[in-house]
Parts: sequence; C-alpha cells; structure tokens
Amino acid sequence: MRSWRCYFSRLMRLSVRWVRLCPHRGQNNRPSLLQQSWSYGRVVFNSLYFNILTNWDTVLDSIFEPIYWLVDNLTRWFGVVFVCLVIALTSSVVVIVYLCVLPLIVRTYPAHWILWHLGYGHWNLVNIVFHYYKAVTTSPGRSPQEKCEIPTVTICKKCIVPKPARTHHCSICNTCVLKMDHHCPWLNNCVGHFNHRYFFSFCVYMTMGCIYCSISAKDMFFDAYNAIESYYQTPPPQFTSDEKLFHKSLLYLWVLTSSVAVALGGLTIWHAVLITRGETSVERHINRKERKRLRLIGKVFRNPYTQGSINNWKILFGVEKTSHWISRVLLPSTHPPRGDGLTWDCPPLRQDAVNTI
Ligand SMILES: [Zn+2]
Ligand SMILES: [Zn+2]
Repeated sequence: MRSWRCYFSRLMRLSVRWVRLCPHRGQNNRPSLLQQSWSYGRVVFNSLYFNILTNWDTVLDSIFEPIYWLVDNLTRWFGVVFVCLVIALTSSVVVIVYLCVLPLIVRTYPAHWILWHLGYGHWNLVNIVFHYYKAVTTSPGRSPQEKCEIPTVTICKKCIVPKPARTHHCSICNTCVLKMDHHCPWLNNCVGHFNHRYFFSFCVYMTMGCIYCSISAKDMFFDAYNAIESYYQTPPPQFTSDEKLFHKSLLYLWVLTSSVAVALGGLTIWHAVLITRGETSVERHINRKERKRLRLIGKVFRNPYTQGSINNWKILFGVEKTSHWISRVLLPSTHPPRGDGLTWDCPPLRQDAVNTI
C-alpha cells in the first residue's frame, strides 16, 4: 500500500501541471505567486478530503507539518551552534586550568600529587577530545537504501525503505538510523549503532573531567569568591587587574564544571541504566508501553535484545578479552561495534513474553 505521503507527492506533481495549464496567467504566461499559493493550498485541502487513505492522524500530521518542519530545521541549525558551544566552553576550561590551576598545583603541591594531576588530567582530556570528535564525525549507521537480504520489521513511511529491527527514523537527520538511541543536539548527530560507544564514553569522561576540575579547584574557588566579595568593601582591597581576572576565571571554572558535572552526570547514569538493560532511549518508551500492555493480560515482557547486564556492557564497549577493558575502554580506540546493526542475535518479536500466571 502506498503511503499517503507518496500519494500526496503525486497530487503535488498534478498540482504543478495544473498550474502550468492554468488559463489565468499573467503577462509573462507565468502564474503569480498568489495563484500558485492558492492552487497549492487547494490541492492540499482537497487531498485531505478525497484521499482514500485520509484519517484524523493524516489531517493532524498535515496541520502540524509546518511546526515539525520548523522544529526540525531549528534543531538542525542549533546543532551547529551547540557543537561550537561545547568546543568553546571546553577550551575555555582547559585554558583556565593550564594558566591558573596547574601553575598553582606545581608551585604548592608535593611531587607525587603533581604527577597525579598531570597524569590524570591529561588522560581525561585526551579521552574527552577523542570521544567527542568520534561521536560527532562517526555516522550512526543508515538503513540500506538498495534492496538487500535483511530481515525487515517494517517500512519507513518517510524514507520508503525497509527498516531493520531497532532502526528508527530521525526527522532531524531525515533518515533511518540503525539502533537509534536519540538525536543529540550537542553532537549535531544521531546516536546509533556505530557511535553509541563514543557518545557514552564522552559523557563518562566529560563528567569525570568536570568532577575532577570542581574538586581540584574547590579551595581556589572559595578563595576567589571571598576575594570578589571583598571588592565591595570600603576601602576596597588593592587587587591588580590580573588578580581580578584570575579570581573571575576560577569562579567561572568552578560554577561551569560543577553544573555540567551534575547535569551530565544525571544523563550518564540514565544511559548506564539503559545499557545495563540492553535498551536504547527509543526502545525504553516502546518497551514500557509493551510491558504495561502485557501486564494487563497477565504476561511479562522480556526485552529480546538484552544479553544480560555484564554482556550488554561488553557488547557496547566491544570487550572480547580482559585486556580490552584497558585498551578499548580506558584508552581511545577506534574498533567498530559488534555486528552490522541490521541483524540481531534475538528475533525482534514479542513472542518470548511468557505467561507467568
Ligand atoms: Zn526513515
Ligand atoms: Zn538525527
């Protein structure tokens, strides 16, 4: 059965032909913008009534289409701004740490603490930069456009291509994404089969980096805060402009890293729970509904894609032997994920929901 969109696009082509044949033409034998808009609107309006596939969902979809279009385009545009923001904010924190925090650590801390800060700080920074770069630039995996031998669950109404299991359409990327988790504006990219590990590792390392910065700079922050408070005393203490800049930089560093640590930490924990369950964010919503539906008829829902908590983590990180926990989790690694994202070990059917009553 052809989707209403396909039917609608045929109507649009007919509309264009009708406009070309329209007898009420301007001096240049071209319809005016008003005539074009009127005929376009008429076809849209009529298509809602005369299309045999029309139902209330279609009507509401059509009414909200401009809003969807606006939201999708704004999100796409904001994605670029958000990526620039992540790069700018992270760079500013790194610059402040190098110029303000590290010199103080080197001057005042004992040697073993200096080594710890240099070693941990740089390892964390390298992981943040690597995983963010890979999460932004790695394609999450698209649904195959040409005909191929894959078990198809359904057909995408928008792309008109087969959708393998766990694949969902992203209206912002305007394509079907393999094992789609969500569209992340901070990456300006979808999180899917091929970049899920990069996304999650970035969240973990960024949270760890922010916690590290806020703990390391805590005492300096309180000193800087007290100094800034004293600016308003009479007579004001004599601080040079460099000292004032130093105080404000530390204040900015601590407030930013603490806020990000809390917000991103919460998101990271949520994704860790999903990974443990073997679910994506999209599947979480679908499975919750399915779980509720089956409970009402006395059955228990089992997620067909979970391989057990520990195995789910091993699959995400591509851990096949013990040393991989270091080489593939703690160090930057470009190894691909297990599988092609088209087929899965367990069939994507709900038949293994078992009756427990
Ligand atoms: Zn699609
Ligand atoms: Zn997307």
